Amino acid sequence: MQAVSVQESESAAERREALKEVFAQARGCTRCTELAATRKTVVFGAGNADADLMFVGEAPGASEDEQGVPFVGAAGKLLEKLLVEIGIARSEVFICNVLKCHPPGNRDPQPVEIDNCQEYLHRQVELIQPNVICTLGNFSTKLLRGDPTGITRLHGQSEVLTLGRRAVRLYPIFHPAAALYTPRMLETLREDFTRLPELLALGAPEQPDLVEMPEVLPEAASEVAQVAVEEQSSEIDQLGLF
Ligand code: URA
Repeated sequence: MQAVSVQESESAAERREALKEVFAQARGCTRCTELAATRKTVVFGAGNADADLMFVGEAPGASEDEQGVPFVGAAGKLLEKLLVEIGIARSEVFICNVLKCHPPGNRDPQPVEIDNCQEYLHRQVELIQPNVICTLGNFSTKLLRGDPTGITRLHGQSEVLTLGRRAVRLYPIFHPAAALYTPRMLETLREDFTRLPELLALGAPEQPDLVEMPEVLPEAASEVAQVAVEEQSSEIDQLGLF
């Protein structure tokens, strides 16, 4: 993936532009041969590109693959409802998945696919700079914590985690799809949701010290900018996803 450097001082507009470039790269991704051959769209993510709160699910389902937007099915409706109940609109947050492509037959993401795709998620975290990341279910929780402990043990407990150069408050909760048909789980999910506003009110956790980056020579910097402009598809603007 072409590296686009980001600094804490970059404006939200600059970070959003860089995010669009990552989206353009993801749209042509063929790292997973099967997923690249069977997907209809790359479901990169949607919402506020400068969100304080980011949700990370598992992988797009069939409806998401059709529409190119994450969480548009029944689980997405529930997620939206739980957000509204705590006074947050879907448009305020950013929603994405561990995998950006729909696994055929809704099978589980495979370890190699998670590995292939994780760079996109890390770039999203780096560019959106959320304060709180809510992992939905096991796949995103295990990936971002780098640990096999499951969601049943971890749900509802926040921890500060450094992802790349960003410290975030990680808050694992049950996947809304799992809560759809299990009233007890829905109750727990709703209860965990009610703690989100106080977590958001804490703001960003203390950030790690940034290592001094070498200055980019003006000539090299303009080359990078040129490449970025050439690679940007006008279609991206029309999508208006974030
Ligand atoms: N489940 C997910 O994990 N992600 C989606 O986008 C939809 C359903």
